[in-house]
Amino acid sequence: MSKITTVGIVGAGTMGNGIAQACAVNGLNVVMVDISDAAVQKGLATVAASLDRLIKKEKITQADKDAALARIKGSTQYDDLKVAQLVIEAATENLELKIKILRQLDGLLAPETLIATNTSSISITQLAAVTGRSDRFIGMHFFNPVPMMALVEIIRGLQTSDATHDSVHALALQLGKTPITVRNAPGFVVNRILVPMINEAFFVLAEGLASAEDIDAGMKLGCNHPIGPLALADMIGLDVCLAVMNVYFAEFNDSKYRPCPLLKEMVAAGYLGRKTGRGVYRY
Ligand code: NAD
Repeated sequence: MSKITTVGIVGAGTMGNGIAQACAVNGLNVVMVDISDAAVQKGLATVAASLDRLIKKEKITQADKDAALARIKGSTQYDDLKVAQLVIEAATENLELKIKILRQLDGLLAPETLIATNTSSISITQLAAVTGRSDRFIGMHFFNPVPMMALVEIIRGLQTSDATHDSVHALALQLGKTPITVRNAPGFVVNRILVPMINEAFFVLAEGLASAEDIDAGMKLGCNHPIGPLALADMIGLDVCLAVMNVYFAEFNDSKYRPCPLLKEMVAAGYLGRKTGRGVYRY
């Protein structure tokens, strides 16, 4: 397997441009593709602004920024991805769209090129199976904001080869990240534990065991979490938390993942969190 020196990225949004920045800052060449020039330019501008903040904090120099930006090529042409040894799909979270993109990549890229997906919720095994290179397909689940967050979940589909895993694991280390290796299952590791914890906080609230403020203070001070589970639910979106619980409930067929009725009720009321000005708390 050839050494990864150029990474292709599909999608220049929140995650795509963050991954592009992490790669470029760490000396890799990047080709970042999106559907419109406006989306590509927005992604590049986000990277430039993020690098400016790092200059202000004296973490990098102007020369580092210029060098990193020079390593990122923005494009609307999938053909430009052919030079990459690894292409990371970070487009909108939609199964049909991802299947379409992966088929397109599979037909275009050299057989030895690795493909990874940054999906949060779709089965890596299922996505691998739509390509003709399922052994060279893997999940690379970055966390938001990518330049700040140290973790990458490396998710092996049933078909993923050891060589693919090892290359992508080494790449994550090269990006200055700490990879953890996970077998494919809904929620992978972090969200599998995090979202049921949030759901449990809603049960505790619904049972009237403590106020929202006290539940959050308890988990912050008692577990050293930087934010309480209910405040976190407001940030993530209550609708997103509910959707995730519904997936676990359906996929694992296990009542321990039943969404809390209070969570459902609040979503039905439109209390979705920060984005609607009201969730558990008012904003
Ligand atoms: P986003 O909406 O910010 O960006 C998605 C980008 O994909 C958009 O710029 C869109 O134009 C582009 N796109 C759509 N169709 C495309 C196509 N056919 N070809 C190329 N680009 C296309 O979304 P995001 O938050 O960056 O999420 C991207 C992926 O990362 C999703 O799979 C999501 O589940 C996953 N993820 C998101 C987070 C997060 O916190 N936002 C965290 C981890 C993983």
